[in-house]
Amino acid sequence: MAGRTKFILDESDMPTAWYNIVPDLPAPPPPPLHPGTGEPIGPEDLAPLFPQALIEQEVSTERYIPIPEEVQEVYRLWRPSPLFRAHRLEKALGTPARIYYKYEGVSPVGSHKPNTAVPQAYYNAREGVSLLTTETGAGQWGSALAFACAQFGLECEVWQVRASYDQKPYRKMMMETFGATVHPSPSDLTEAGKAILAAHPDSTGSLGIAISEAVEKAAANPEARYALGSVLNHVLLHQTIIGEEALRQFEMAGDTPDVIVGCAGGGSNLGGLVFPFLREKLAGKIAPEIRAVEPEACPSLTRGKYAYDFGDTAGLTPLLKMHTLGHDFIPDPIHAGGLRYHGMSPLLSHIVELGLVDAVAIGQNECFAAGVRFARAEGIIPSPEPTHALAECVREALRCKETGEEKVILTALCGHAHLDLPAYASYLAGGMVDRELTDAELSAALETIPAR
Ligand SMILES: *Cc1c(COP(=O)(O)O)cnc(C)c1O
Repeated sequence: MAGRTKFILDESDMPTAWYNIVPDLPAPPPPPLHPGTGEPIGPEDLAPLFPQALIEQEVSTERYIPIPEEVQEVYRLWRPSPLFRAHRLEKALGTPARIYYKYEGVSPVGSHKPNTAVPQAYYNAREGVSLLTTETGAGQWGSALAFACAQFGLECEVWQVRASYDQKPYRKMMMETFGATVHPSPSDLTEAGKAILAAHPDSTGSLGIAISEAVEKAAANPEARYALGSVLNHVLLHQTIIGEEALRQFEMAGDTPDVIVGCAGGGSNLGGLVFPFLREKLAGKIAPEIRAVEPEACPSLTRGKYAYDFGDTAGLTPLLKMHTLGHDFIPDPIHAGGLRYHGMSPLLSHIVELGLVDAVAIGQNECFAAGVRFARAEGIIPSPEPTHALAECVREALRCKETGEEKVILTALCGHAHLDLPAYASYLAGGMVDRELTDAELSAALETIPAR
């Protein structure tokens, strides 16, 4: 087999700054609004929830933000992460396309989430916070924050969406091993949780509900702050280390991507990989097409409305301008738990509106078929979320097979499935259902978006 398949950077070549795309965009993203006044929120509105350093990053217009030495030290436990050329997948598909994947499954919890959990824990600890609260859907984010809190001596309390709490006991065990306390959500520990349980005693929960619970607890405790694993600008910022590394690795490979695909739940792994490539594109140096892939069951980018909506179910957060299905929307319990959020990163939403990124929605059977194909060729079982990116990657590679085009495809392989194997068991047993959202369900969900 010709050529090298792995592109590994030395530790000393790990990027030392995160990239903020905001100053390079042709128009700035619309600001978050205060739900009461309808005015843009100020730093003081966020202070009960986030430490000063993260609030500054959230609104920063600096192009590069240095990665603190203490954060770099923890990153070096697994970074730089590898870029692989998928020779064996290419062969299995019989495609002339060259397929590369940037693999984040090498992290302590098996996904890209620690890239932001570590700096979030670091800045909170530095500002004297003693407890971080958060929500988790699939369990990836909760595990990442639990790990990061252990690194900096913080306590960590996690509300895990009930469906996942029941189906994924290993994620809970992992969080507890790292020292976190885990509650199923909705819980009777918060007003938001109690209200949901009163109306729906058997609620299997949602990310929106779990966020309400974690936010409520943090806001009520001056020693505590809240941490979010996706969606916000500072989260996408921290994830740009993925793309900065990948750019250097493509230099090593002597190649340039024509198409970049990633799955999008809240937008952080996609934004993290593609923003540095977009910088090069906006500067006229390269011209990749960039595509976000979401599940048909939770199609915020492809069928949602671009509007101001709440980030959580109870309406405790500022209003964010984003692609949303309505803050009450509870998607079908598909296996890709990380892609079951009603909204999308406001920054990525804005970039989609600017026409710099496009989006497709794919049903889960096709995604798992791509995941199995990938696993059998490359020896890595992808977590359910990035199988969405792989499905689009397979579509593109097969289009190249028809046309004979030798496109270069880069995909974000943002995690492995070692704790999500029951999803594969369900697929292999033929028990997986594809249910597209009906137009009636969609319009009912969109009605909960606040009128402005
Ligand atoms: C959390 C998660 C996602 C979804 O979140 P993004 O912010 O869109 O990246 C996707 N894949 C994995 C493996 C995750 O853990």
